[in-house]
Amino acid sequence: MKKINVIQVNDERHLDTLADNTLLNDTSYPELRIEKQVLIQAYRDYVAQNGNPWSIQQPNISNKLKSGLLSHYSSPPDSINFLDRITKSSPEVCPMCGGFKPFTRDHILPKAEHQAWAIFSKNLVPACDCNLKRGSALKGDPATGARILHPYFDNILLQRLLSCEITHRNNYSRFSLKISYVDPNHPDIASIKYHTRHVVIKSGVEEWLKGQLSKLKERPSNVIQTLPRKKALSEDRVREAIEDCLDRIDELTGTPNNWLSIFCHGLLNSAGISSWVTDMHNQTLVLR
Ligand SMILES: [Zn+2]
Repeated sequence: MKKINVIQVNDERHLDTLADNTLLNDTSYPELRIEKQVLIQAYRDYVAQNGNPWSIQQPNISNKLKSGLLSHYSSPPDSINFLDRITKSSPEVCPMCGGFKPFTRDHILPKAEHQAWAIFSKNLVPACDCNLKRGSALKGDPATGARILHPYFDNILLQRLLSCEITHRNNYSRFSLKISYVDPNHPDIASIKYHTRHVVIKSGVEEWLKGQLSKLKERPSNVIQTLPRKKALSEDRVREAIEDCLDRIDELTGTPNNWLSIFCHGLLNSAGISSWVTDMHNQTLVLR
């Protein structure tokens, strides 16, 4: 998860150009020309409501315009030239799930049910395959107002929201790991949990974290790259190295909610784990 900046796109001007394109008579012409003001109002409403799906009004547009907009998204006319820029606008981290290397885009309001915003730049964010795994998840229990978080509008994404809880049994021979919440009493906890369940966990974060734990068992310095490979350390020094790694990854990725930071935070905050990492580190030093 990551708060990112919107790329500069004049969406209303793009609508003007499309609306006047008589070559688009199989898709949006002349409907877009006739219904353009309704669509512009829907775009403005989206921004005024900060992308919150509980308060955005679904506009009344014709079925032909709905299918025309979907078609413009899947086969963009030349005048829609900003889609690739959106895909590339967060190269380090997927703003939706916090995994690495986003290669596609996600519609915050899913396009199948919210066609009016199918080509609206502020409804499109860079994403990885969590896009497919999320499906059409958007809103949870109305009593809590739970919803998908929006990388352009939700400033809470700047805070550290996610950690992991690592527990062990039989003297560190078996481990369990699950995603946990840094502040279970956060005012927006319902949406944080909804987004985490429908996007972050579905995208495979817990399997990835378990994989990091397996690598760490072999040699902690392979995962926590701030640990020296040849030098034995006290538990305090190991904790410092993990904290240093956490700081660096937060800064490099621009978000405390990337998967490696979630892992480091869990190592530091799960009972008994940093003392175990210290033992593993001192037992697996590179001696050559
Ligand atoms: Zn993702």
